[in-house]
Amino acid sequence: MSSDLQYIKGIGPVRAAALRNAGIESVHDLLYYFPYDCLDRSRITKINELPKLVEAGNEVTVIGSVFRAETKYTRNRKKIFFLTVKDETGYLTCVFYNGIEWYQKAFETDEILAISSVPELDKYNRVQFIHPEFDRLKTKDEEDETDWNSLLHTGAIIPKYSSSEELRNVGLDNRGFRRILRSATNNQLTSLTEHLPREILQRNTLLDIHSAIKMIHFPKSYAERDHALNRLKFDELFYFQLLMAYRKRELKGELKGIQCTSNRTLTTKLKETLPFELTDAQKRVIQEIFADMQKPVPMNRLLQGDVGSGKTIVALFAMLAAIENGYQCALMVPTEILAEQHWQSIKNFLSTLPVSIRLLVGGQKRKLREDVMEDIRRGTAHIVVGTHALIQEHVQFANLGFVVIDEQHRFGVAQRATLREKGKQNPDVLVMTATPIPRTLSLTLYGDLDVSVIDELPKDRKPIRTAVRTEKDKKKIFDFVRTEVKKGGQAYIVYPLIEESEKVDLKAAVKEFEYLSQDIFPEFTMGLLHGRLSSDEKDELMQQFKQNKIHILVATTVIEVGIDVSNATIMIIENSERFGLSQLHQLRGRVGRGAEQSFCILLTDDKYAARKLQTSSNRAEARVEIAATKKRLDTMVETTDGFKIAEVDLELRGAGEYFGTKQSGLPGFKLWNIITDVNILNAARREAFDLVERDPHLARSEHKNIRKEFEFVFKDLLSFVRVG
Ligand code: ADP
Ligand code: MG
Repeated sequence: MSSDLQYIKGIGPVRAAALRNAGIESVHDLLYYFPYDCLDRSRITKINELPKLVEAGNEVTVIGSVFRAETKYTRNRKKIFFLTVKDETGYLTCVFYNGIEWYQKAFETDEILAISSVPELDKYNRVQFIHPEFDRLKTKDEEDETDWNSLLHTGAIIPKYSSSEELRNVGLDNRGFRRILRSATNNQLTSLTEHLPREILQRNTLLDIHSAIKMIHFPKSYAERDHALNRLKFDELFYFQLLMAYRKRELKGELKGIQCTSNRTLTTKLKETLPFELTDAQKRVIQEIFADMQKPVPMNRLLQGDVGSGKTIVALFAMLAAIENGYQCALMVPTEILAEQHWQSIKNFLSTLPVSIRLLVGGQKRKLREDVMEDIRRGTAHIVVGTHALIQEHVQFANLGFVVIDEQHRFGVAQRATLREKGKQNPDVLVMTATPIPRTLSLTLYGDLDVSVIDELPKDRKPIRTAVRTEKDKKKIFDFVRTEVKKGGQAYIVYPLIEESEKVDLKAAVKEFEYLSQDIFPEFTMGLLHGRLSSDEKDELMQQFKQNKIHILVATTVIEVGIDVSNATIMIIENSERFGLSQLHQLRGRVGRGAEQSFCILLTDDKYAARKLQTSSNRAEARVEIAATKKRLDTMVETTDGFKIAEVDLELRGAGEYFGTKQSGLPGFKLWNIITDVNILNAARREAFDLVERDPHLARSEHKNIRKEFEFVFKDLLSFVRVG
């Protein structure tokens, strides 16, 4: 397969090897190596227009030819490289402070470049670009089909391809890619076969695949490019929805599940002993789950509910219903602390009921673990709460009938499937998430699941008050904490801890903890919770905090998910600019869980923006990041509505990152945009589900190519479905 790349003009063995290393192994891969962006006339700025664009601070692109390159020295002998380019309206200087040796050799006089940056003023008020991105369009002597001189007047669109060091070294920079793709789209398109039948194309006014591929690379107009995008996005979504359709079908129709009857012995008891009244939303959702359980097919349901909406108790009712029918239940959560907490609180809720609840986590002593496993094997453990330790091979259930997966977004599709397979029959599965997913998204990513939503918080809750503050407000904040704790409240102070700088971060948290406990709050008991502690130590701390023996808990993000201490009313987040939006929302959700007014204080480093600009090599990117940070914090202050927060988060991050599609084993969406392409999604979904309905085994000749393409797209994932 890989050698066929060499049939393309301009690709020899050396380039083919470099392409292979970049994951482009065949003509097909190359044709699907889409430009990440394109340049067009309407977006190109003339040099004499730059001065009036400085103020706005946006990135702009200039096309010009290299006029002069020179290296100068500052007074303290530091080198600076200046590149001057010209277009028909004037001259522009680009300044480079780093990597001078490379830049000195990089440009030839009269070479044509597209240069992008945010225009800035130098000390003489002349416009300059600092470390711009540039893109070679044409060297002086190069032959090319494009008439670059008239480009500015024709409205042609130039594709931009991303490249890598290795690829650039063999001449496959942006420009190199344009040339081999020009050749590939001219001569090799016929190697692609149309996989969608004509009726699907017609119904959805889609381009045929050859035109779409040609136009995504070399569109003559923006309309052409959109048309091409439309078709290719449709493909992405169609095959994904086809996967969903098969999974749903398999779960619903072909698999035999277990069937519970409602005898209500345990559930009624639980209801009588609950210290609160269930909300209407909780009651409704419990009924939806019971209805599923009474059907002979496996339940596969997603339970959405914002932080604090009371999902655990809903899961508990469902588990009791399964236990009444003689089944075991498993509750899988993402962290040990959370497992511990669920285990504790479930034990409390069920203290008067004849139900055995066991905990299984990685950090347990060997002997205890063996004991728990034995209990699971014999069937004497009714509910097993655990981390992913639960899906390890040697855990064997006697009679697993009901599986709950909490905080679904932390687990992948594959893990879900593994736990399901622990049952002899197909257990009912309930996945819970506090990440409120916009409906379109849940359709896409969990299209094989039925969805229940708890859209109401318990009645006693007051909305949390949120504010953004900086270092200089700290004294006031500490006084406030003191007052609240004296009144009997409790506080969390959270520090960021990310993998890349884990050691430094941890040190900072420890230092702050010492300072706070000795100098600021000597009269209170404080605790420090972080991921390096053993699970025993973590438990001990959480227990003490729960019992209000610890008043202020300093923690890293280990407390992010699910921790429930309703007496805690203050959440202070240090360096909140370093957290993602859903993380902030989760952290804030640790307070406001009782009837008292709660507060969330987002501390930020007031020099954050300045520092970011200074240290970043790409100022345009830095600006985008700074704006995103501001948007995250503003959103937190404006709303406590998890759905709104999720939408903003999606907008800022995009779907792939939002769901960690890489780790979950879902194919990343390359072109499709979650916010703007809902219509294409719906169309693709309709066609995919319809197709599975009409020709479930894809046996008809006009569907033969769909089947092939489906297998090609989901090489590794098809164990989930059985096509025919
Ligand atoms: P989440 O949905 O975030 O997992 P939990 O299940 O942890 O929320 O519930 C949050 C807190 O609210 C728990 O202390 C729980 O016992 C309590 N709770 C649940 N349902 C209700 C209710 N209907 N009324 C009052 N408190 C409730
Ligand atoms: Mg929870």
